[in-house]
Amino acid sequence: MTASPAAGHAGLIGVDIGGTKIAAGLVADGGRVSARLSCPTPRTGGRAIVARAADLVDQLLREAPDPVAAVGVGAPGVIDAATGVVSSCTDIVPGWLGTPVADLLSGRVGLPVAVDNDVRAAALAQARDPAVHGCRRVLHVSLGTGVGGALTCAGSVLRGDGGTAGEIAHLLVPEPGDLPCGCGRLDHLEAVAAGPAIAAAYDTRAGAGGTGADLVTVAARMRAGDPLAREVVARAGTLLGRTLSGLVTALDLDALVVAGGVTELGAPLLDPLTRALDAESRPPGRATPVLRPGTGDAPILGPALLAARRLAGELR
Ligand SMILES: [Zn+2]
Repeated sequence: MTASPAAGHAGLIGVDIGGTKIAAGLVADGGRVSARLSCPTPRTGGRAIVARAADLVDQLLREAPDPVAAVGVGAPGVIDAATGVVSSCTDIVPGWLGTPVADLLSGRVGLPVAVDNDVRAAALAQARDPAVHGCRRVLHVSLGTGVGGALTCAGSVLRGDGGTAGEIAHLLVPEPGDLPCGCGRLDHLEAVAAGPAIAAAYDTRAGAGGTGADLVTVAARMRAGDPLAREVVARAGTLLGRTLSGLVTALDLDALVVAGGVTELGAPLLDPLTRALDAESRPPGRATPVLRPGTGDAPILGPALLAARRLAGELR
């Protein structure tokens, strides 16, 4: 997959609010990220997070060669896109629930602000990628600190009135393990396939109170030939594939796009995922492409596209 061209709007800013860092970029005419900034995500609540995002936007506005028309934000959790308020989220980001992101940020920077879930915003850019463009129905899967998802049909993101369409984090995994999920229930996809979940599975299997391994350690041990690390990663891939296979059939998906830090595990994760996906989806013999974005710009370009749509009157 190669770079994803955004719409030809001059002067937009895309902001990606994540659990560990906030990134912001100036998106110039033609969909190129011409300047970018980032900072750690504060752990002191939603208002502090939006204030830091506003600092980044202010700095980009000072450096921008041309006027900026609007700001788009991709943010964790379920977002009411009409109001830009966080309507549901787990505690991955403390104090995030209920934050009026659009109003707070717009009040600070004096520009129109559009907000959506980070994975659904990024999917707007991913769906324009040449490798994905010919696929009509696509499930976008983000594997990082949490698990996110988005459904696109012919390049448009399906949201639903409640904003949860594409939300795959809390799908039940078809192999009970009594694994606690961040939402308070058991055996959800996020409790199996997010980075911390894979590291915790390795810790548990390593026994003796665990090794305190994070995903970086598990990845290094996997590449060094540690059979337990390979097995844990393969199991996460297989359970991902089995869980998502039902969606492939039910929604008649043409492709999966997988992104996020966990996908850097590469073939030891993605091959078992693909095998399980193809084995369980219908009809027999179905082969669903599992694609990885060629660039990391979708988290900035997607929100910029969201801002462009707000300006065009397609939102709010
Ligand atoms: Zn859950």
